Amino acid sequence: MKKILITGGSGLVGSSFIGEEFIHLSSKDGDLRNKESIKSLIEKTNPEGIIHCAAKVGGVLGNTKYPGDFYHDNIMMNTNVIEEAKNKGIKKLVFFSSTCVFPDEVEYPLSPEKIHLGPPHQSNYAYAYAKRMGQVQIQAYKDQHDLNYFTVIPTNIYGPNDSYDMENGHVLPSLIHKMYLARESGEDFIVWGSGNPLREFIFSEDVAKLTMNLYRDYNGNAPVILSTSNETSIKNVVLMIADIFDFKGNIKFDTSKPEGQYRKPSDNSVIRQMYPDFKFTQMREGLEKSINWFIENYKIARK
Ligand code: NDP
Repeated sequence: MKKILITGGSGLVGSSFIGEEFIHLSSKDGDLRNKESIKSLIEKTNPEGIIHCAAKVGGVLGNTKYPGDFYHDNIMMNTNVIEEAKNKGIKKLVFFSSTCVFPDEVEYPLSPEKIHLGPPHQSNYAYAYAKRMGQVQIQAYKDQHDLNYFTVIPTNIYGPNDSYDMENGHVLPSLIHKMYLARESGEDFIVWGSGNPLREFIFSEDVAKLTMNLYRDYNGNAPVILSTSNETSIKNVVLMIADIFDFKGNIKFDTSKPEGQYRKPSDNSVIRQMYPDFKFTQMREGLEKSINWFIENYKIARK
């Protein structure tokens, strides 16, 4: 049986594809910024299709400090993977974009036809433009060649195997790591920003399940948004994390720190119509799984 190649298979999303049908790749198997790597990986594994999760991913600070790296690494990885998949006759490929790609000033809810209507938020413009071009490449190759390639656009993902880096990571894993340390030290728990921004968090296992459903069923052109369409404030998330950790100390919000866009609600009508019975993992359950994983894997977790 031919298998499905998961690039970025060691990461938060890639490691959530569980089963015999997958081959998980990490940067140790080959640097996808180099075209020869993906070429020889496809030759070696002869996959049925590719789920392209590999990317250089980070939070507000990482994106602001290293925009050149975020641009270069992502544009190279996407260009190489999509081009070599096409060259090797791979008929099916899913490309992971992100809701970060949307214009900063846009009418909500976010929907795929609005992606190119204006510049992305300044805090992650390099990552966002590289991702936008990945989607353009998918569309162009689809128009020219007979390929069933498409883009998925997940909202904020969380789960086991995330990067729990407190400076360069995403908001939710950073909060979990900080809470872990604050509980150990008994110090105040400091949250970057006001806690008011709203986000749509989605559990990594739900992303993998929905992606595989689409991999089998979807033949459309438009990118598909993967979201629960439930907005939660950072403050609410902090309180849930504190409750799970049984944190008894003070929680303070540091408004001098950056916090990104205020809100970015999205339109998940495609997956709701295609999978009306899909049961999303409740935030509390997903957080418990993530926090338990982090505690059990503290020594080896990316941080
Ligand atoms: P992670 O940072 O958890 O994982 C990234 C993966 O990419 C790792 O497996 C890593 O390998 C691999 N990788 C990085 N650089 C290279 C390289 N040069 N060559 C080969 N492999 C490389 O990312 P996520 O799982 O969080 O993200 C998966 C996808 O989803 C990405 O495309 C991301 O943009 C998108 N996305 C993520 C969101 C989120 O909230 N996390 C939100 C929306 C979209 P190694 O472990 O060896 O370093």
